[in-house]
Amino acid sequence: MKYIFGPVFSRRLGLSLGVDLVPYKVCSMDCLYCEVGATTEKTLKRAEYVPIEGVKSELEEYLSFKPEIDFITFSGYGEPTLYSRLGELVSYLKSEHPEYQLALLTNASLLHRDNVLEEILPIDVVLPSLDAGREETFKKLNRPAEGLSLKNILEGIEKLMERKKGKVWIETLFVKGINDSEEEVEKIGEIIKRLNPDRWQLNTVVRPPAFGVEGLSFEELNRIKEQVEFPRTEIIAHKKGKEVNLPFKELKEEILSLVSRRPCPVEEIADALGISTDEVMKAVEELKSEGKVQEVLFGGEPYVKGICG
Ligand code: SF4
Repeated sequence: MKYIFGPVFSRRLGLSLGVDLVPYKVCSMDCLYCEVGATTEKTLKRAEYVPIEGVKSELEEYLSFKPEIDFITFSGYGEPTLYSRLGELVSYLKSEHPEYQLALLTNASLLHRDNVLEEILPIDVVLPSLDAGREETFKKLNRPAEGLSLKNILEGIEKLMERKKGKVWIETLFVKGINDSEEEVEKIGEIIKRLNPDRWQLNTVVRPPAFGVEGLSFEELNRIKEQVEFPRTEIIAHKKGKEVNLPFKELKEEILSLVSRRPCPVEEIADALGISTDEVMKAVEELKSEGKVQEVLFGGEPYVKGICG
């Protein structure tokens, strides 16, 4: 499978089938904490980066097994709203597979454009990121494409909140020394209270980042939660996954697909795929000898990471 991956156990969405609509590594930002890697094509241009027929045929094939998953999620290597046929894909899934809930992980960079907003309104849960309360912090942390400002991001999320049909869960990822000062948290908190999302999710650097930045401890995230006092705040924590039956011959391919998008510890891969850590280790060793994955240390813990071209 080239365009769909998983299902993976996501801390926010449970068991989620990923749909990847832009190649490595097309994004409108180049965040210091990105777990995919440094952006190689920073752009605000929408295009059909991958053929829609290919995406649909993979979805058809996979969904024909009627898998028990919590969400089909547009996410992956870069920013999914850069895909110019996203709206068609959303309509297709809503009409052909209405039994599945849809989710969108987005950096919110294009939501201020009315045509993009219109396309994503039928999505059940939209998860926009908002990491800064001030323009200078946004530039430093998210390193946007030229012409993109925090003002655009806020305008987009505001419009989404006014017109939404589903839920909106805003994520703020905190990075030590960059957006965790009392002053910055105060500003972010004011914005969150004004936007009033269904959930405000606090996250931090928990996987090897593209650039050498550090995360906060649980206690530090909790301090932020207490400082802001927004009622629907949650600190995203690791949870165990559900069991999925996966034919063994596809295991290596699935693991590669998973760790190319985000580095994972062996236990998490095993959880996501519903298999033993021994089986994962065996496949990982082979992938290592083929030069397709590597092991990296982050916070003293080993992670398996894809070697992307
Ligand atoms: S974290 Fe998301 S928005 Fe930021 S560079 Fe990575 S893919 Fe793009």
